[in-house]
Amino acid sequence: MTVAIKFSGVSRHFGIVRAVDGVNLEIAEGEFFALLGPSGSGKTTCLRLIAGFEQPTAGSIAIFGEDATQVPPYRRPVNTVFQDYALFPHLNVRDNIAYGLMVRGDGKSARRAAADEGLELVALDGFGDRKPSELSGGQRQRVALARALVMKPKVLLLDEPLGALDLKLREQMQSELKSLQRRLGIAFVFVTHDQGEALSMADRVAVFNEGQIQQVGSPEDVYDRPQAPFVADFVGASNVLPADIVNAVIGTHAAASLRPEAITLGSGPLGGVVEAQAFLGSATRIEVRCNRQIIKVLIPKGGVVPAIGEVVQMGWAPGALHMMDGAHG
Ligand code: ATP
Repeated sequence: MTVAIKFSGVSRHFGIVRAVDGVNLEIAEGEFFALLGPSGSGKTTCLRLIAGFEQPTAGSIAIFGEDATQVPPYRRPVNTVFQDYALFPHLNVRDNIAYGLMVRGDGKSARRAAADEGLELVALDGFGDRKPSELSGGQRQRVALARALVMKPKVLLLDEPLGALDLKLREQMQSELKSLQRRLGIAFVFVTHDQGEALSMADRVAVFNEGQIQQVGSPEDVYDRPQAPFVADFVGASNVLPADIVNAVIGTHAAASLRPEAITLGSGPLGGVVEAQAFLGSATRIEVRCNRQIIKVLIPKGGVVPAIGEVVQMGWAPGALHMMDGAHG
């Protein structure tokens, strides 16, 4: 495995704010890698450190095995697609796409050929003469993508690139981005606060909280085998059962996570009272109070939904209860 990006003990502090705090990370060549976490958890700062727009206050960053500390952004084999796309309004689409090539000094015909190739790559052939204002949000997003890709980066950095799109377009762009990444075979490092987006697109996910990485793993790892209560809660809103409840139920004194969709109603070791119901379309989520703990349960469409105030027993399949490392009571 060739390592494209390596963070060794990287921190970026702004005064007393520890935006990134002692991060170790390896991203492989050709990998679709998601940086996932809530707002302010340090994802964008990590991306900016890779791009060279920020410098670490401690630690080091290597890009394809070479220390990048002294390498300015334009010399790094990476390009960024920004959330707001940052297109030049007065330039047409072709000139926007070719802008980086012009700055680099490429000739006019080479620029035109590369821009047309870029337009084709993002399925916008024929749009070269339009101005950004004459495009939809999704089309502008593709132009930003083409503009970054014509520079032939070895790593593409994407900062919440789908944030401004409506749900339907977002889902379409998710699968297009995924297949584009497969075709190009370069690493994509993708910042998002949307768990579903990270899980559905990435080969591996790093879950951030307060400047630190809580867990790195495949989507299945972080979803099914969370190593910390924060990961269990953030990635798919799992139930975190405190050690006293787990102890009472299965005799092991450790906190554990339990997915709302893994719980069955009817019989089982955990009892409680239904306190809330929420209709989600394809399922209904209920909240069951067991002493001081609220347990979320997802009932698929067609299942029997108990009324508020009803007493229910909850069970789960063997293996659904996942013990957490480093969990607190
Ligand atoms: P979001 O999803 O909202 O973009 P994020 O996870 O990308 O959040 P960052 O943008 O990396 O988070 O910010 C992490 C922390 O660092 C935040 O508390 C932020 O306010 C702070 N921060 C980021 N850039 C600067 C800066 N230039 N000066 C001071 N503080 C900063």
